[in-house]
Amino acid sequence: MSKIISVLGSTGSIGEQALDVARKSGYKIKALAAGKSIDKLEAQAREFMPETVAVFDPSAANELKNRLDDTPITVLSGSEGVCFAASQKVDIVLNAIVGIAGLKPTFAAMEAKNDIALANKETLVTAGELVNKRAEEQGIKIIPVDSEHSAIFQSLQGAPKGSLKKILLTASGGPFYGKTADELKNVTAAQALKHPNWSMGNKITIDSATLMNKGLEVIEAVHLFGVSADDIEVLVHRQSILHSAVELCDGAVIGQMGTPDMRLPIEYAITWPERGDLCCERLSLADVGTLTFARPDMETFRCLKLCINAIKAGGLKPAAANGANEEAVALFLSGKIGFTDIADLVEAAIEAQPTVEEYTLDDVFEADKNARSLVLQIINFR
Ligand code: NDP
Repeated sequence: MSKIISVLGSTGSIGEQALDVARKSGYKIKALAAGKSIDKLEAQAREFMPETVAVFDPSAANELKNRLDDTPITVLSGSEGVCFAASQKVDIVLNAIVGIAGLKPTFAAMEAKNDIALANKETLVTAGELVNKRAEEQGIKIIPVDSEHSAIFQSLQGAPKGSLKKILLTASGGPFYGKTADELKNVTAAQALKHPNWSMGNKITIDSATLMNKGLEVIEAVHLFGVSADDIEVLVHRQSILHSAVELCDGAVIGQMGTPDMRLPIEYAITWPERGDLCCERLSLADVGTLTFARPDMETFRCLKLCINAIKAGGLKPAAANGANEEAVALFLSGKIGFTDIADLVEAAIEAQPTVEEYTLDDVFEADKNARSLVLQIINFR
């Protein structure tokens, strides 16, 4: 299947796997974008020969421009450069930027009427209503890449409109599954970065350890599938084989299983509604043997509950939760706060964010900024 795609966040965990899929499936790359990792970007640019490469960091962009001087590739910088890369006309833009930094590029892709394969869950968490509205106005599709949402999307193929009763959103439980709140107080970043089943970027790995990731995914699912948070049941499934499921109105439960490998949902988002060839290991259920399911411990892993409350309250509360979490995770990774502080800081930011009915994109960035400042204020006062 011949496709022309752009990959934003190409130097990250999802970005590199997306390029692996492109390599195997023979997709042409029109544009690449990343934050600052120019060694990787240079190698990717020389291999895939895109028209444009954008680097968020201006000095890194300058350096890359010099390095790629012997090629016809245009190197751009800053947020405008990344948005320009997103706006090049392609079959689909894969947005695998981490954090709210992915939000403007999502809009830039939509303005150019590009369909989007969306890994950047923070886009929907912070501005879900605005994104859905613009996608509808522009007539573009947003196809989920997150493995759980891809599983839900796959399970709904062929389901009659209105037949979705409930979403069963699976969670690995992370490296600290079964630990008490007291035991969590002194866990280190190194321990939190050891995910049992998935190899991912640092931010999402910490989010998986706190269950914030599952909270963000509940919010993401609300926006992608038009359900309420009450219609989503989170299930801890330690093996990460059932990537999520749906319950339909007649009681049928339909799910998607596979080995824990992001290349499958990445490939599906690009080829949908067709299917590509296998790009990862086949699943042997006999080898897996046992699949287990349990309710999450939301008293100990408070971030999940906080996100559910934030999306129920609506408005800018999810954006505040996300901004506080991004800041808190960076502080935890640099050893400045403890693991359980993350939930406290997210809670403080949700509480401080006033309830609003309507909001603009500028309001989202303002809520994000306020949440981050609040986190830093609280930490500096200690
Ligand atoms: P990584 O940290 O591995 O990669 C992040 C990417 O974003 C890098 O290419 C980075 O560039 C780039 N980036 C950071 N800031 C900017 C910016 N301002 N402008 C442009 N590019 C930027 O993250 P992951 O790949 O793990 O995750 C990416 C997204 O996908 C997240 O939203 C995550 O929640 C989601 N996701 C990830 C999964 C996974 O398995 N990893 C699974 C499901 C969802 P640089 O390297 O130069 O800093």
